[in-house]
Amino acid sequence: MPLTPVLTTRWGADRSWRLSTYESLEGYAALRTALSMQPDELVTLVKDSGLRGRGGAGFPTGMKWSFIPQPKPGEEPTGPAALPKYLVVNADEGEPGTCKDLPLMMADPHSLIEGVIISSYAIRSKLAVIYVRGEAVHAHRRLMNAVGEAYAAGYLGRDILGSGYDLDLIVHAGAGAYICGEETALLDSLEGYRGQPRLKPPFPAVAGLYGAPTVINNVETLASVPFVVRGGAEWFKAFGPEKSPGPKIYSLSGRVVRPGQYEAPMGTTMRELLEMAGGVRPGHRLKFWTPGGSSTPYFTAEHLDVPLDFDSVAAAGSMLGTTALMVFDETDSIVEATLRFTEFYAHESCGKCTPCREGTYWLVQILERIAHGRGTAQDLDILVDTCDNILGRSFCALGDGATSCITSSLKYFRDDYVALLPPEEQARLGRSLRLEP
Ligand code: NAD
Ligand code: SF4
Repeated sequence: MPLTPVLTTRWGADRSWRLSTYESLEGYAALRTALSMQPDELVTLVKDSGLRGRGGAGFPTGMKWSFIPQPKPGEEPTGPAALPKYLVVNADEGEPGTCKDLPLMMADPHSLIEGVIISSYAIRSKLAVIYVRGEAVHAHRRLMNAVGEAYAAGYLGRDILGSGYDLDLIVHAGAGAYICGEETALLDSLEGYRGQPRLKPPFPAVAGLYGAPTVINNVETLASVPFVVRGGAEWFKAFGPEKSPGPKIYSLSGRVVRPGQYEAPMGTTMRELLEMAGGVRPGHRLKFWTPGGSSTPYFTAEHLDVPLDFDSVAAAGSMLGTTALMVFDETDSIVEATLRFTEFYAHESCGKCTPCREGTYWLVQILERIAHGRGTAQDLDILVDTCDNILGRSFCALGDGATSCITSSLKYFRDDYVALLPPEEQARLGRSLRLEP
């Protein structure tokens, strides 16, 4: 029996985004179960399931929830435990190539809303916010409609399903800045400030929205929660490897026959996913691919059998990230692709720290020079040196992520860079390479 689909199981239903469709397909059944449980039981259940964050970093979800300071029974709460708790949904999907959360919200918004209600109950929050990417006007509208339906049916608001639990849910549109997908910049943006990352620690679980304990989870993570409640921890763990279990949405784009969303258990390989997507376009061969969006080091054909789960991908030298699998074939220039990604990071750098603000600008200048046949032999070393001065020295993950495509492309395809250098510069390197026509 195939293990999937789970998360995408309702996507093909007629008007799948409507509450009536959702309810007819066992929607909100998990909420009833969850409200009959104690909040701490839910935290333990999600911990036991092994669910890890689907936003890219793979942090254990139940553990994150357990960091929220809660009042001790019989004691007057003090410090962060006395403050309100918030749940914030990071729906600011913006990583190049990443396109799993928007289709999920469009096709099945109630699975996210049900996950939000259960998760908010688990951390004892009475206010949740979905922060949606500003450009995604269609998703914002769909969520607003779905939230309205959920209020009208008594799944949100006062005394949800007669349980005595109250929750309000706000849908907030960002303004289209990639950095606002970084969780603390997102909080600043929500509070009305310019979105720039905050120093961590303290992590949002202790001091988040308005300084109060806040859980920030990705859309796909929260949409997985109702399935954990319905199926149980053991059922969830049957999908994929022990340390990274669960169903997963993989987004294939680029030079594949059928690009799109493919749901499969964690640990599925790129070879298997490519088969599902009809393979690389006919007459061409795979050159390189990203396992999790542009911030993750490139993979090549030699990585086709790496199980796509957090630990296996890290062991093979990259990151699972957002499972945005962008596929490039031999007609694609690795230098051009890397230049495009780097231009994106330079444009989206928030400017707060020097290594990223200045470094990404210089990386673009050097890559442009090379791509236009004006590079020097020294430029290859300057690229590496500039990356060294950004990686680990930037304030947030954007700076580090900007270096991945450059360092990995030089690792696997240095000759492609050399081939673009003028002949006299190639001679300096003791090489003579010509570009394939
Ligand atoms: P991170 O590892 O710093 O944190 C991951 C999560 O765990 C955060 O919510 C953080 O608050 C929490 N956390 C970590 N340590 C903690 C602790 N000791 N106590 C309490 N909470 C703790 O990663 P990050 O910088 O938040 O995210 C980086 C990832 O974002 C990258 O892997 C990248 O793939 C991904 N990303 C995703 C998108 C997208 O569009 N979805 C865009 C850009 C980047
Ligand atoms: Fe801003 Fe870049 Fe520094 Fe992050 S790394 S704080 S995006 S300048």
